[in-house]
Amino acid sequence: MTQLDIIQPNNPTLRKRARPVTRFDDSVQELIDNMIETMRAASGVGLAAPQVNQSLRLAVIETPPDFDQEGQEIEDSRELFVIINPEITWKSRKMVDGIEGCLSIPGYVGEVSRHEAVRVQALDRRGKKLNLRLKDWTARIFQHEIDHLNGVLYIDRLTDPENFWTEEAFQKQFADDDEEQPIVIEAD
Ligand SMILES: [Zn+2]
Repeated sequence: MTQLDIIQPNNPTLRKRARPVTRFDDSVQELIDNMIETMRAASGVGLAAPQVNQSLRLAVIETPPDFDQEGQEIEDSRELFVIINPEITWKSRKMVDGIEGCLSIPGYVGEVSRHEAVRVQALDRRGKKLNLRLKDWTARIFQHEIDHLNGVLYIDRLTDPENFWTEEAFQKQFADDDEEQPIVIEAD
């Protein structure tokens, strides 16, 4: 497997609406494997094909692990999804604010409002239909990745233009605060 280069917003591929995947041949399987490898190497929880300069409606998502009472990562508690030609078929009315980052915008985080829960219809890597019900952080990651397939970045959806920070400034701001530090999600 090969690690792929992750592009940044100066590359127009990131701003294009991606094309549906119509074939599930070896080249698509290889792309999927390389995207999983690239996501893991970058410690991301999601990666969309446009981020590796492939304008295809395809994303890989791996949920963060669960931890036991001693704070140890529970083995096999991460869940890996490969979603192809995904559509959001239902969205909760309830919205939640959260902090997101993006591997295509390294070093920054911002606050984004997302639907608390969504249902997604997609195909898996073999072309089999998936119907997924997602909530909380997993629902957030899916919304972030599906946005990538439409050329949308989280910086387009900030709760306020001021709610965008360097990772360093964000950590400092919340370290000085008595408030509990929100979880930063390295969305992808
Ligand atoms: Zn992203």
